[in-house]
Amino acid sequence: MSMNDYATARARMVHEQLIPRGIKDKRVLEAMSVVPRHLFVEDALQSQAYGDFPLPIGEGQTISQPYIVALMTQALALRGEEKVLEIGTGCGYQAAVLAQLCHKVYTVERIKQLAIRARKTFDRLRYLNIVCRIDDGTLGWPQHAPYDAIIVTAGGPRIPDPLLEQLADPGRLVMPVGDRLSQQLVVLEKRDGECRQQVIEHVRFVSLIGDHGWREL
Ligand code: SAH
Repeated sequence: MSMNDYATARARMVHEQLIPRGIKDKRVLEAMSVVPRHLFVEDALQSQAYGDFPLPIGEGQTISQPYIVALMTQALALRGEEKVLEIGTGCGYQAAVLAQLCHKVYTVERIKQLAIRARKTFDRLRYLNIVCRIDDGTLGWPQHAPYDAIIVTAGGPRIPDPLLEQLADPGRLVMPVGDRLSQQLVVLEKRDGECRQQVIEHVRFVSLIGDHGWREL
């Protein structure tokens, strides 16, 4: 496929998968219509990159379906000035979408090979406002806290306490919470010292593995 074909595939993704399912935030739709999702997956999968499904990214991990990326991003209600923490860099696609919409993205990945590949992609595509770290993201990234928004892109048994502590007030956090096979997508809003939670979707994510997540199998 040519560059033009990919741009067309992205526009179709926005109009056929995101808008009809209720993604309304204009900035999110704009970001998803420009970030080259196909450049975050391996060559053999590029032609499928804009399909309505998750894709494998190596190391037994997956990149979420475009709708789920849009839904989680929209839930953070970014305006442009925020500092955002992402747990689970994976291939880096979600971080790139966030980077279009906020001031700076801090992203943590536990699997070294994935983190290194994502960093290369960010450099190649000139995403200068993404900072990466290889670590257990259930501990957050205390040095740069507080974060205006936190997004966890792997499913865990509960929201890790360190992430709640590192969330600014006001601040928003989105994370799949449940058992290892299926989860509820929870949006938590911290305001005036109080936290309110809401479930917005039922999802299946790979496992969040770490001190405040699951044990490795
Ligand atoms: N946002 C990613 C999704 C990747 S899948 C993307 O756009 O591609 C979830 C990722 O979370 C996997 O790469 C997995 O290795 C990572 N992960 C799981 N537990 C983690 C932890 N405790 N800390 C950091 N990353 C973790």
